[in-house]
Amino acid sequence: MLHGLLCLLAVIGFLIGQGTAGEKYLIKKDAFGVTSDDKAVDLYTLSNGSGTEVRVTNYGGIIVSLIVPDRNGKLADIVLGYDDLKGYFNNKAYFGALIGRYGNRIAGGKFKLDGKEYTLAKNNGPNSLHGGLKGFNQVVWEANGAQTSRGATLTLRYISKDGEEGYPGTLTVEVTYTLTAANELLLEYTARTDRATPVNLTQHTYFNLQGEGNGDILGHEVMISADRFTPVDKDLIPTGKLHPVKGSPFDFISPTTIGSRINGNYDQLSLGRGYDHNLVLNRSGNELELAARVHEPKSGRILEIYTTEPAVQFYTGNFLDGTIIGKNNHAYQQHAGFCLETQHYPDSPNHPSFPSTILRPGDVFHSRTTFKFLADGKGN
Ligand code: BGC
Repeated sequence: MLHGLLCLLAVIGFLIGQGTAGEKYLIKKDAFGVTSDDKAVDLYTLSNGSGTEVRVTNYGGIIVSLIVPDRNGKLADIVLGYDDLKGYFNNKAYFGALIGRYGNRIAGGKFKLDGKEYTLAKNNGPNSLHGGLKGFNQVVWEANGAQTSRGATLTLRYISKDGEEGYPGTLTVEVTYTLTAANELLLEYTARTDRATPVNLTQHTYFNLQGEGNGDILGHEVMISADRFTPVDKDLIPTGKLHPVKGSPFDFISPTTIGSRINGNYDQLSLGRGYDHNLVLNRSGNELELAARVHEPKSGRILEIYTTEPAVQFYTGNFLDGTIIGKNNHAYQQHAGFCLETQHYPDSPNHPSFPSTILRPGDVFHSRTTFKFLADGKGN
């Protein structure tokens, strides 16, 4: 009897979900090209019926475009990237990509775990950056699109083999992107391993809320909910200290334009050539909490970032120098975009005092981040 009732409720729930989803949310799949090792790659377009649209490829889980309205409803693509798949084969800046197995730097490409030393592929001077020579940003993910009651959802799955880029254990990773009717892009990461390994997954989209290729991001007003940051050395490795932001150019507790202090005389800014630092988020629990809010005054576009992660890497596109030709023939100059990469602190495997990034067999890595798009003016 109870079983029958539960089945009936499940069927009704399914129909309601399908009904709402079918009308509003769309997910479309198109061929995007073929990798150098002959794997076919697709481009998935997720839309929510209000003009907002995100395109994601299962090559690197890359967000290829993200179209959102400004305060007058005018649509623009607000992420940096390339016109075609080939551009992403040599994506040194990691435009739009999913990053793993370890986002950010591991000093000397080495760490010790349970008494054993592991050596990683080095791809950033003496360090390992964003997973190594061939990180998750360069692999083909298995993909499944669906229309769910929450929105258009793309589920990506990748199995990283034991020893890949020097990391121990076979790691099974799943990432979902969901575009909701409320103009939110929900990111959900899960991972499981068969041996202890560091895991730090993130998303490396470069935003320019004026539209990609439309000037620099120095006029964007940024709020980051962080009282402390991790100062770095000359190789951008954290010293291990947590430094208060108060009284420094890293204080974004009140909204401040990116450009107002970026060229100030401050050693941490010189080391990063601008902002390239992990800010330690003020958190009150383990649920999604507002980490950052960015407002672009000309277009009125607003990006809010919510996360379950303890930190965010604020990177202001310092290494862009006009040599990368991106979408629509745009040469991306320094500060053409900014990243807010939600994550654990850099080099955590070598800093026992930092929150642990070690995933053990039987445990499930679970992390969520939401990008919410708004515009100023009415209702906001
Ligand atoms: C790092 C930068 C690096 C960039 C690569 C960022 O996450 O913090 O130092 O240059 O990724 O595009």
